[in-house]
Amino acid sequence: MSVEKRNPISVKEAISRIMKQNVEVQDTKVSLEDSLGHVLAEDIVATYDIPRFNKSPYDGFAIRSEDSKGASGYHRVHFEVIDHIGAGSVSKKTIAKNQAVRIMTGAEIPKGADAVVMFEQTVESETTFSIRKPFKHLENVSLKGEETRTGDIVLSKGMHITPGVIAVLATYGYTEVRVTKKPSVAVIATGSELLDVSDELQPGKIRNSNGPMIKALAEKFGLQVGTYKIQQDNLESSVGVIKEALESHDIVITSGGVSVGDFDYLPKIYEAVEADVLFNKVAQRPGSVTTVAFVHSQFLFGLSGNPSACFTGFELYVKPAVNMMMGARSCYPQIIKATLMEDFEKANPFTRFIRAKVTLTPAGTTVTPSGFNKSGAVVAIAHANSMIMLPGGTRGFKAGHTVDVILTESNAFEEDLIL
Ligand code: AMP
Ligand code: MG
Repeated sequence: MSVEKRNPISVKEAISRIMKQNVEVQDTKVSLEDSLGHVLAEDIVATYDIPRFNKSPYDGFAIRSEDSKGASGYHRVHFEVIDHIGAGSVSKKTIAKNQAVRIMTGAEIPKGADAVVMFEQTVESETTFSIRKPFKHLENVSLKGEETRTGDIVLSKGMHITPGVIAVLATYGYTEVRVTKKPSVAVIATGSELLDVSDELQPGKIRNSNGPMIKALAEKFGLQVGTYKIQQDNLESSVGVIKEALESHDIVITSGGVSVGDFDYLPKIYEAVEADVLFNKVAQRPGSVTTVAFVHSQFLFGLSGNPSACFTGFELYVKPAVNMMMGARSCYPQIIKATLMEDFEKANPFTRFIRAKVTLTPAGTTVTPSGFNKSGAVVAIAHANSMIMLPGGTRGFKAGHTVDVILTESNAFEEDLIL
């Protein structure tokens, strides 16, 4: 039996082959409460001006600015308070010369007034107060429409729905919103050595950690996940399960069996389901055998069984594909620069991805491997918030070099840093 020769392609090329596939993005309507994590399928317009009326940004007194002319420490100007309003109330009074309305943050500026004096800027007595500086026309006034005007496009199609987006939708009264459908995901762990989490350990066997990890990665993304039974390294039964998974899911993620071992059946499975293999060898470590195939607008991700490689494969390939399938405008992970804190002196022809900890320090952003880091490592994944990305080539990297880091979690570790 001869081992099939695979030609590695770059990570960039691998991602671009995924992103070139034709996927059909479908719309659906969801309620505002269920919209988090979806992608907007429509532009959202402002349904009214914000603010809707000139309003006070402070607790204080609404006055006519012209009355404050010439005010100083030697020449305090006095006002008579004629009304008192809180947010949500509107004064029926019109302010005349040297009159004022006591006004709370968010309340509409009364007729006649064109400036607000903050409490801190006054000396108060029972029904009067005085000020020691002049105020300009519209000083301390939030103007009608200063943030948005009716008809402005405030959110655009393709944006991910974040808590901030939900605040905007709520503001303009969108109880429902048009979003794209999220792809559904099937997760299948393959390998005759695998035991379920609840199983007792047996000689030669290991517990399936990739299945639960992939499920969690997908759920964190807000996706519905169907988990299938662990598959023995058996061609017929595995083909059966993958066919079944393809009937009801847009994405099928497997772990294990993509290498060239005697019991690595995924390449034959892709043939059996007539999937188009986009690549089966990438110039990356870990996970060089990561394989991605496409069949009738569905993706099959064949992630390596090695946990660190499996995690890396999800971050690099599954995430952008899911974003694309949701019609998202931004599909790629956040990459930052950080100072490498350990040497990686051995040059590597393949791009290396190292599970790592990004730390914010008073001196800058640093990045350190998060523990034992071979491709089979699992604990380092848990201690990582990022992956160091060392380009392949003829040179090594030393502590102190600035490197690219992919953020995989949104929180950085902090070291004596007050933000
Ligand atoms: P494979 O990709 O099938 O060649 O497996 C590579 C390595 O990952 C082997 O040491 C497997 O035992 C291990 N492995 C495979 N699947 C899993 C899994 N679901 N969870 C944890 N380790 C796995
Ligand atoms: Mg295997």
